[in-house]
Amino acid sequence: MKLSQLFTKTRRDISKDEASTNAQLLTKGGFVDKEMAGIYTYLPLGLRVYKKIENIIREEMEAIGGQEVLMPTLTSIENYKTTGRENLDVLFKTKLYNDAEFVLNQSHEEVVVPLSKQFVSSYRDLPLYIFQIQNKFRNEPRAKSGLLRGREFIMKDLYSFHTDEKDLDEYYELAKKAYFKLFMRMGLEPILTFASGGTFSKYSHEFQVLTEVGEDEIYVCEKCNVAVNKEIINENNFCPKCKNKKLKKKKSIEVGNIFKLKDKYSKPFGLTFKNKEGKNQIVTMGCYGIGLSRAIGSVVEVHHDEKGIIWPESVAPFKVHLINLETKKQKNRKTKSEEIYNNLQKAGIEVLFDDREDVSAGQKFSDADLIGCPVRLVVSEKTLEKESVEIKKRNSNRTELVKINNLIKKLK
Ligand code: ATP
Ligand code: MG
Repeated sequence: MKLSQLFTKTRRDISKDEASTNAQLLTKGGFVDKEMAGIYTYLPLGLRVYKKIENIIREEMEAIGGQEVLMPTLTSIENYKTTGRENLDVLFKTKLYNDAEFVLNQSHEEVVVPLSKQFVSSYRDLPLYIFQIQNKFRNEPRAKSGLLRGREFIMKDLYSFHTDEKDLDEYYELAKKAYFKLFMRMGLEPILTFASGGTFSKYSHEFQVLTEVGEDEIYVCEKCNVAVNKEIINENNFCPKCKNKKLKKKKSIEVGNIFKLKDKYSKPFGLTFKNKEGKNQIVTMGCYGIGLSRAIGSVVEVHHDEKGIIWPESVAPFKVHLINLETKKQKNRKTKSEEIYNNLQKAGIEVLFDDREDVSAGQKFSDADLIGCPVRLVVSEKTLEKESVEIKKRNSNRTELVKINNLIKKLK
């Protein structure tokens, strides 16, 4: 993509109420635009990052058998009355012309359970794993942390359906592994955190990423690298793995959460199956959530410096940020940098090409640091004298000259 064609621009002065680092950098860099507190537009650069994160998550969910669907945003309030969640404090409600009440889904148990009821009737139909990646709506009282806490945000939610608890337990462990894998792939290193499981099981598990700006407080066992969340530390002030009592309090962001629901939602909707003996039995469920928008915000909180974002390559909007500093106007002839841009693209390397003519070198460098692509290339008359390009990684200060002939090999 050519920067001269990109309709968004980097911004210097942004609203002071964007206090969080992720919102500041993502807004300045032209990744997102704030519509109102907790509600953002994804701009072309931001959408590219979003899609990379989405693909990582999709791949790992499919790898554990997940089948993707896309459920609606609007659901009749009757479904929420069935589960007793019609008065949830975060629920957005709306009405049709005939006064029928609807909710904007804050999660999709009330949709996925009636849905699966139409297809599950026998033990042969189980287990079943359904997931989607979709916008959720929550009337959050505080939405001050940029993408970390939205009123409209993007979530991956997977629901698993089983004949019995043993099968659920096995799948739950598989999902746990898949979660570690996908978060590591996007440059996050979560800590498995034991949280209260409510009345349904002893624990649920959160995936918490350590950072000072996190809203959560967890108690980390540095020996086992697991943690206990604030809500259960009173009843369980020891490491659930090694029973060690020396836990360290740290700030963190909850990027994912997995739950054994058991029959909490299957029972009220009467989701049953015929077992091998031909008897009706309630389906056992689990649910597995990840905030995609929160994951983007978390990556920025973890990977940045005073100049801007430092994207891990797996989720960067482009791998390469190519800067043209050739000053001579070469009418009717492509500049050398344009030729390099075309060749990189042909080689399948994603490039953001700063081909702007009316912008200073200093501005181009600071934009490259702000946007944060992993590799910066500079083409100038000076580098061209040596038939070379200057290469620098975003996370290092070292620059190096690379012969244009060797560039693609070097980048790959
Ligand atoms: P929190 O405790 O942070 O409010 P939650 O426990 O209510 O989150 P879940 O219902 O478990 O969240 O949702 C699954 C995942 O969705 C969370 O782990 C988090 O990553 C993400 N998430 C939840 N609420 C928000 C939000 N308001 N904005 C962005 N992501 C969110
Ligand atoms: Mg949670």
